[in-house]
Amino acid sequence: MEAKSSSIKKIRKTMEKTLDAKRFEHTLGVAYTAAALAMRYGSDVLKAQTAGMLHDCAKCMSNEKRLHICEKHNISVNEIERRNPFLLHAKVGSYIAMRKFNIHDSDIINAILNHTTGRPDMSLLEKIVYIADYIEPGRKQAPNLGQIRRLAFQDLDEALFCILKDTLVYLNQVDGDVDPMTQKTYDFYKEYMADRK
Ligand code: FE
Ligand code: FE
Repeated sequence: MEAKSSSIKKIRKTMEKTLDAKRFEHTLGVAYTAAALAMRYGSDVLKAQTAGMLHDCAKCMSNEKRLHICEKHNISVNEIERRNPFLLHAKVGSYIAMRKFNIHDSDIINAILNHTTGRPDMSLLEKIVYIADYIEPGRKQAPNLGQIRRLAFQDLDEALFCILKDTLVYLNQVDGDVDPMTQKTYDFYKEYMADRK
């Protein structure tokens, strides 16, 4: 980490100012849950907190601004993202984490970048942030949440697979656009879990 790199306290303060109250509560929940999972699985606790604190840093801005940032900085936008620019908060968020918060740890950046869709063969930190985003204490709606929360501290990959499965079911139910990466991630972990048995 370089000298200018932001401390977790400073990031937290900036997030409190940048995000609306509900999103800030969610952010704190993700940061603490990610830290707890990092303790459980022997991952770097500070990195988990940092990624959790920043994962939604681009959530509370207009779609126009998100698209503008992508255009200006040559960040690729696919068809689905163009139709649903809120999906871009992960890409734009990782860009802001690098440029505005001077985060240069690629694992933290990837955890922010991939927190909505996941990706095949995620790192431990990426899994932790992806799962923390889903199970943090403020979440109430997801089906099987109790079971997934318990699983997350018992078997990280099993919890990850359950979340991917439930997310796809949900997205197909609401007829939402499914980012092909979400499907790809699910397919990867389906095979991975089958091989594991
Ligand atoms: Fe998000
Ligand atoms: Fe989130």
